Amino acid sequence: MAHKNIPIFIPHLGCPNACVFCNQRSISGKNKFVPESVALELERAVATLNDGDYAEIAFFGGSFTGIDRDSMIYLLELARKYIDDGRVKALRCSTRPDYINEEILGILKKYKMNTIELGLQSMNDRVLSACRRGHTADDAERACRMIVEHGFELVGQMMIGLPDADEESELYTAKRICELGALGARIYPTVVFYETELCRMAESGEYTPISLDDAIRRSKNVLRIFEDNNVKCIRVGLCSSENLASDEAVYAGPNHAALGELVMGELFYDRIRSIMLHDGVNCPDGEVVVNIGHGEMSKAVGQHRRNAKRLCEEFGIKKLKFKECDTDTLSVTYIQKQTYTE
Ligand code: SF4
Repeated sequence: MAHKNIPIFIPHLGCPNACVFCNQRSISGKNKFVPESVALELERAVATLNDGDYAEIAFFGGSFTGIDRDSMIYLLELARKYIDDGRVKALRCSTRPDYINEEILGILKKYKMNTIELGLQSMNDRVLSACRRGHTADDAERACRMIVEHGFELVGQMMIGLPDADEESELYTAKRICELGALGARIYPTVVFYETELCRMAESGEYTPISLDDAIRRSKNVLRIFEDNNVKCIRVGLCSSENLASDEAVYAGPNHAALGELVMGELFYDRIRSIMLHDGVNCPDGEVVVNIGHGEMSKAVGQHRRNAKRLCEEFGIKKLKFKECDTDTLSVTYIQKQTYTE
C-alpha cells in the first residue's frame, strides 16, 4: 500500500510569538494563505490518489491549533469529508506546546485527527528562553502527556544548534521525547534565515551558526537515541515542501539537501565500526560482508562510498561488500579466503 502525504502549508497566520529562528513572518507576507483555497488544493490532491493508497492530510507550517478557531474548524471540516468517504485514512497537524489544552484536543478528536506533531525544539529552559519561544519545558512536558493520554500519536520535533544549546541539552531533549511516549521525531539543525532575529544575532556575533559537520555529528547522536528507543525519525533537516529551504532565504547554517542521508550514513558508519571493533576484524585476504536491511544501501555505504572507504582503511579490509537481506539487524560476516570463491 503506497503511503501518500497531502501537505497543507499553514503559514504564520498572526502568530503572536517571536521565536528568533522563525522566518514565517517574512514568508507569510509573501505567500498569502487563503483557507478557502485549501478546498480546491485538497480536491486536486485527492483526485490523484489510487485505490488502496494510504493517504494522510498533514496541516504543517505554523501552529495549526493556534490559528483562529473558525479557520481551524473550517480546515478540519474540509479534511473530515475525505476521512468520512474513506479516500483519506488519517490526519496530522503540527503545533506548539502552549496551544494544547483540553478544549483543543476535544476538537481534534471530534474531527478524527490521528497525529499531533509538537514543535518542542528544546526541553531546556535556558535554550527556550534564548530562542524567545514563549513557553517553558514544563509546558512542553504537560502538552506531550496530554496528547498521549488523549490517545493521539505524538511526534516530537527538536532543533540542533539553537542559541545556548549544547550537546547535553540536545541529548536530554531527545531522551525526554522518547520517555514522554512519542512514536516519532523530527530533527531540524538550525538554519539561519534572512529577516529573522537569529540572523541579526549571527551578524552581531551573538550567535554562531553550527557548521555542517557539527550538525551531522550532533544530529546523529540524537538520532541514535531515537532509534535505540524505537522512536521513528521521520526527517532530519528541512525539506522543500516545508517551504523553507531555498538557498536565497538562507544566511548561514547547515542547509544541505541530503542532510538526512549524511546523518544516517554517519550512524551506519558508527554502528558497523563498533561491530568490527567488537569482532576484532582479522580477515586480511578474505571478504567482509556487511548485512543490511532492504533500502539501506546508500546510507550504509555512505555518500561517495565514504563509509566503505573509511572502514577498509581503518580495518585493512581488501574486499568489503554490502548486502541487502531480510533483516532488521545490522551484522557483519567474515569469509576467510579458503572458503569463498571469486
Ligand atoms: S516558530 Fe512557530 S510559534 Fe515561533 S514565531 Fe514562528 S510560527 Fe510562531
